[in-house]
Amino acid sequence: MSVKFLTNRTLFQKFSTNLNKRFLATVSTTSKLEDIYDIVIVGGGIAGSALACALVTSNITKLQKRIALIESSNISNIREWNPLQGEFSNRVSSLTPRSVQFFKGVWQNINEGRIKPFSDMQVWDGISDARIQYNNESDKSPLAWILENYNIQHAILKTLDKDKSIIDILDNTKVQDITFDKESEGEQFDLSDWPCVELSDGKKLKARLLVGADGFNSPVRSFANIESLGWDYNSHAVVATLHVDPNIENKTAWQRFLPTGPIAMLPLQNGYSSIVWSTTPNLATKIKSISSKDFACLVNAAFQMRVADLEYFYSQLGSNGSVDLQSDFEWRKSVQSKNSDPKEAFPPLVLGVQDKSRAGFPLRMRNAESYIKERIVLVGDAAHTIHPLAGQGLNQGLADVQHLLKVIERGISNGQDIGDVNLLREYSSERYLSNLVMLGVVDKLHKLFCTDFTPTVLVRTLGLKTLNNLEPVKLVNLTRFRSEWFYNSPIYAINTRLYVS
Ligand SMILES: Cc1cc2nc3c(=O)[nH]c(=O)nc-3n(C[C@H](O)[C@H](O)[C@H](O)COP(=O)(O)OP(=O)(O)OC[C@H]3O[C@@H](n4cnc5c(N)ncnc54)[C@H](O)[C@@H]3O)c2cc1C
Repeated sequence: MSVKFLTNRTLFQKFSTNLNKRFLATVSTTSKLEDIYDIVIVGGGIAGSALACALVTSNITKLQKRIALIESSNISNIREWNPLQGEFSNRVSSLTPRSVQFFKGVWQNINEGRIKPFSDMQVWDGISDARIQYNNESDKSPLAWILENYNIQHAILKTLDKDKSIIDILDNTKVQDITFDKESEGEQFDLSDWPCVELSDGKKLKARLLVGADGFNSPVRSFANIESLGWDYNSHAVVATLHVDPNIENKTAWQRFLPTGPIAMLPLQNGYSSIVWSTTPNLATKIKSISSKDFACLVNAAFQMRVADLEYFYSQLGSNGSVDLQSDFEWRKSVQSKNSDPKEAFPPLVLGVQDKSRAGFPLRMRNAESYIKERIVLVGDAAHTIHPLAGQGLNQGLADVQHLLKVIERGISNGQDIGDVNLLREYSSERYLSNLVMLGVVDKLHKLFCTDFTPTVLVRTLGLKTLNNLEPVKLVNLTRFRSEWFYNSPIYAINTRLYVS
């Protein structure tokens, strides 16, 4: 009898509740009881560990399931994360209210002193300076929260560690191969259609449901022969932690669209900000290696100088300090400010960059051609990867996790096999289109702004100015892509058609 036919609720629950020992003793001569899991999650990044945490804290799944979380890196540094005051990791994320709401059980373990909610945004065109300004002071609810990825992961692990008995967390353990163990074929309890995960320590785990939360290069996706569709941008994101003017209240997220890519500055605390600067690979290499003083000056120039002036600055990089960028910046600024709009606002001045905080990431867009197969499901970056200009990648991954949890819970409540592709289809139909649309919108925004072609500049300038005059609409357009308005809009329909076809 094949286990997948155990759809009778009582039988199924008998199997899953405590992996019924007598039952499992007869499962297979080749499978050891401790190596059989209901859910094996590959990848202990934020998406994978958030799913593990949601499963062990859900009233429906926590008593029913045996779970393993496998992570190739050593997570003890995250468990013991004890950051120094005034030092910030260069990997931060902006979490939307929906993601924060999803984390409500984890939030108590977050280091609150290191979170920055913000309710102001300024986004503008590098060529025409057309701007959208959003100030949410009347509403008081933040647009998003900025926090270090370590802060999120540390809080998840702390929450998970309270429920250690139902989850095996195997870190420092790499998935080497994923196969099907045909040896149990034809036995009384046939697990031959369950994925068998081979680990670097020689163990083999069998999974009723295998979750690929293993990032952009997902081995689970490769094993399942699921293609990932999309393209690489000729662009790298340079991230860094900045020391900014401590006398200025740091409560606004800033983004300027330059022809080489957007530069965003996100508030951390008064005196500290984080940047994500998307630019050409060549320029990214240069700006990662220039002196801290020149880097700080270049970031100020990238937010404040005209594009032609900025290009002059770029041309001086690598001239071995023969040009004093700082005095050049101050001189150009004094000339420029005579002609500029006094209401134009800029981020707090960058005074320096935290040592060793500069790093670069190649940027790409991908979407797996499917998120599911029999007994396999993909979440997070394993399923989709997006340009970071709208800060949506992790938020999408967390929405995947949220929906997958619901589907697993529903499956258990109905006595279904949680590895059954028909059940998993509910997850896929909920998330696939939604992710695809977000990928499409962000990709188009990137293309629309990464050009200095005059007609395009005129159109986007007109668009930004119009949006800036439409108070209620601009928030929806800029920050809450997921609003009902958006899903009912023609943009949604057009994107869906373009990216599905
Ligand atoms: C510069 C930048 C800025 C960003 N800013 C934001 C933002 O503001 N907001 C936002 O929502 N998103 C943002 N993102 C996107 C976000 O960082 C990612 O979407 C998110 O981190 C993906 O998480 P994940 O858990 O899906 O994948 P990953 O973080 O890639 O985790 C995958 C895990 O799988 C493990 N793994 C891989 N292979 C194996 C194996 N064989 N065996 C065992 N383990 C394995 C890896 O070690 C890793 O820990 C940004 C991205 C970039 C590059």
